[in-house]
Amino acid sequence: MDHFSLRDGGLHAEDVDLTAIADAVGTPVYVYSTATIERHVRVFRDALAALRDPWVCFAVKANPNRAVLATMAAMGLGADVVSGGELLRAVGAGIDPTRIIFSGVGKTAEEMALGLAHGIGQFNIESEPEAEMLSQVAAAAGRVAPIAFRVNPAVDAGTHGKISTGRADDKFGVAYDRAEAAYARAAELPGLHVQGIAVHIGSQLTDLAPSRAAFARIGTLLGALRERGHAIATVDLGGGLGVPYNPALPAPPSPAAYGAMVAEVTAGWDVRLAFEPGRVIVGNAGVLLARVIRVKEGVAHPFIVVDAGMNDLLRPSLYEAWHDIRAVRPTGARATAHVVGPICETGDTFARDREMDRVAAGDLVAFMTAGAYGATMASTYNSRALTPEVMVRGSDWAVVRAREPLEALLAADRLPPWIEGEQA
Ligand code: PLP
Repeated sequence: MDHFSLRDGGLHAEDVDLTAIADAVGTPVYVYSTATIERHVRVFRDALAALRDPWVCFAVKANPNRAVLATMAAMGLGADVVSGGELLRAVGAGIDPTRIIFSGVGKTAEEMALGLAHGIGQFNIESEPEAEMLSQVAAAAGRVAPIAFRVNPAVDAGTHGKISTGRADDKFGVAYDRAEAAYARAAELPGLHVQGIAVHIGSQLTDLAPSRAAFARIGTLLGALRERGHAIATVDLGGGLGVPYNPALPAPPSPAAYGAMVAEVTAGWDVRLAFEPGRVIVGNAGVLLARVIRVKEGVAHPFIVVDAGMNDLLRPSLYEAWHDIRAVRPTGARATAHVVGPICETGDTFARDREMDRVAAGDLVAFMTAGAYGATMASTYNSRALTPEVMVRGSDWAVVRAREPLEALLAADRLPPWIEGEQA
């Protein structure tokens, strides 16, 4: 459920008319609903109520805006980070460092040192060479790094190939069959405290069966590791729960169903469980507002050319993702059209043959469910400014990322002296 609804003929975010935001800030612009974020945090937490004091660590990659992270911090969430930049954002937004988990297959020594300096709660280690590097960095800093190995359970999550992370040949995690050897090696290394196991099989999961299978394999590994004397106290079950993008498709499993499955599979594990939800918390809490530049005739259907492009919302072109596209002031008329952006690639297409609200040049449209992996993937491709972001709370709203002037984008380039000399 979200807090975007039609009122007085216009789409609102909570109590704010989206037309007012578009008129004041311009388009394209992302708009987030605080009430929706808070609701999703509560629903996710309630779903885990049967567990003993679980950690809910928001996956910062889904939406790293400082206002979003500060909202998570105020609700007592931890964070799952995958870079030094995300770590600094999480800490800067007030998230307790001891509730920060550092994931990612390519942590550098500098990023490890940063995590150690902030006293983060856990490093999820994805290979034996990474464990050796962290051991060296920690020993040199005179610190002890709390670690879990991310284990690749060799389970196909059944999601889009580009966001599937738990198949045997995916780049993530230590191979399941290598895991015991990796733990044995890490236990001998200085500067490491081996405390947990981590697993994450992918994103936008719409079926609980693969997660159940993966978690069951982790349960087996947990028993084997304990038998070998490893004091495993935490298991991080990752994120991945899907959200409903297309109302015509069956809804993904609810957080309650997910929580019940977790409680059942992990019964008797006697560990603290951690979770890294991203999309399920913020996905439905954001929309991308765009304005129709013009409607261009097409062979079968017209092209609705909007002022947002794949640089603003990459998911359709990267993952063939489906976003509901609504008129902000619908008239009730419907039409079939292709919705495209201004970028010079055919991939800059948001929808083909889409039956949707009829819109005309100058109208506003909202790309729904754009709060996760939206603004964070924006780029300046085609020399377009990064997309600004707005947060709404009740009848209040604020710009939480300003639109950068094009001058700032251009000013970042430098000329090498041999060209500058010629131009002088
Ligand atoms: N944890 C890890 C390690 C991830 O790679 C991801 C994203 O793929 C997430 C958590 C968050 O996933 P989601 O946004 O689907 O919950």
